[in-house]
Amino acid sequence: MPKKSASKSRGKSQEKKETLEDKLSMKKELIWTRISEKEKKEIFRFAEEYKAFLSVAKTERECVEEMVKEAEKKGFVPYEKVKKPAPGKKFYIAHKNKAVAFVVLGKKPPLEGTRMVAAHIDSPRLDLKQNPLYEDGDTQIALFKTHYYGGIKKYQWANIPLALHGVVFTSKGKKVEVVIGEEPDDPVFTVCDLLPHLARGEQAARKMPEVLKGEELNIIVGNMPVEDEEVKHRVKTWVLDYLNKKYGIVEEDLTSAELTAVPAGPARDVGFDRTMVGGYGQDDHASAFPAFRAILDIDVPEHAAIALFFDKEEIGSDGATGAQSRLPEQVIGDMLALYMPDYRYAHLRKALLNSKVLSADVNAAVNPTFKNVHEMMNASKMGYGVVITKFTGHGGKYSANDATAEYTTEIRLLFNKHKIPWQLGELGKVDEGGGGTVAKFLAKYNMDVIDCGPSVISMHSPFEITSKADIYYTYRAYSVFMEKS
Ligand code: MN
Ligand code: MN
Repeated sequence: MPKKSASKSRGKSQEKKETLEDKLSMKKELIWTRISEKEKKEIFRFAEEYKAFLSVAKTERECVEEMVKEAEKKGFVPYEKVKKPAPGKKFYIAHKNKAVAFVVLGKKPPLEGTRMVAAHIDSPRLDLKQNPLYEDGDTQIALFKTHYYGGIKKYQWANIPLALHGVVFTSKGKKVEVVIGEEPDDPVFTVCDLLPHLARGEQAARKMPEVLKGEELNIIVGNMPVEDEEVKHRVKTWVLDYLNKKYGIVEEDLTSAELTAVPAGPARDVGFDRTMVGGYGQDDHASAFPAFRAILDIDVPEHAAIALFFDKEEIGSDGATGAQSRLPEQVIGDMLALYMPDYRYAHLRKALLNSKVLSADVNAAVNPTFKNVHEMMNASKMGYGVVITKFTGHGGKYSANDATAEYTTEIRLLFNKHKIPWQLGELGKVDEGGGGTVAKFLAKYNMDVIDCGPSVISMHSPFEITSKADIYYTYRAYSVFMEKS
């Protein structure tokens, strides 16, 4: 943020002479200290929309569905329905119900490049195994076996209410959409940890990743037996009978299903001052929602604007719906085809090369209780604005995109010009750990790419924390990038 606005907020009484240090050094401030009442209102209003989205769209499928529904209300049509290209024309390309791109055509044709904001819409969770349901013979408790998805601290997922989300296909080809545990009177499910009284022995000696082991993440789903005493697994059969009556499914249908357990319930305000949002899936909904809202609000951009939402980031961006698929090529190729129906690969390559990308993903905000994992001069802080992350990766910048100085400068100056509060971020101390995003996969197309998104405390936990101010200014940052750069 330029220094001017910082001094403004100090008021008239302070007519201190500008020192050499004031003139030359960078100053970053908490957003709340330097904004007007009007801006505060706008931030809190935007957060209500964000929380509503977090509460209904917990899986990538639900995100795609929710986004397409909203976008259609704002005039976006499926790509196939676009006859002729024109500046300001809006369409979307949905991919296997798990990834989606929204496009607003610009004044310039795609050959001159696009402005892409790419986020991911999958989040860490507990996926049911393909053969999930069993009954423990001694206790007659029915459980689901799970295989966790993404990098989680497993112990965090025990003893919290979980909801089941997903899709099941019957042998007749009927698609059954499941959401149980989100309504106040719905039942919920849970992973049960060991009571402290009996954890002093073997479990107390375990190291953190094994406090709860992968095969111990079993979800309790029932304890009622069917009446027929001839049935061997009476509690398991009760559950199957219930599922059959309610959804028309049988056990074999579960083998091809995608069912997942996520933290139940809506996103909440956090703090007496309600400045923060607590909820599941903020990595990366905290970037995806602002990116989505930004593209909805775009009028006619200079370059074609694309908001691209990937699946599978949390497990390495593999698969046909992840960032390592050819989806970015497909989206830009489809755009080109509107202008040049028989475009060649050279054109596609040029359109990709001329494109610029914000890899919209979260960074780790400093948690005041665990500051020691950060190097405070280069760590991002909650409430200090959108985070520009030049490189991610780990030890020696390994596996990092590491944006060029040229592009990093361009983004910094763009944000300064439009008064977007921004900060720099590095993911933890050197050699402490690290992480990756979709940035390096998009950089394969020779596009300029940089990571840019809000910071999050307790990332990958069932209850992640963000600042409402950061979410709002992330939206503003993506807006100016897509519309004005
Ligand atoms: Mn992420
Ligand atoms: Mn993540």
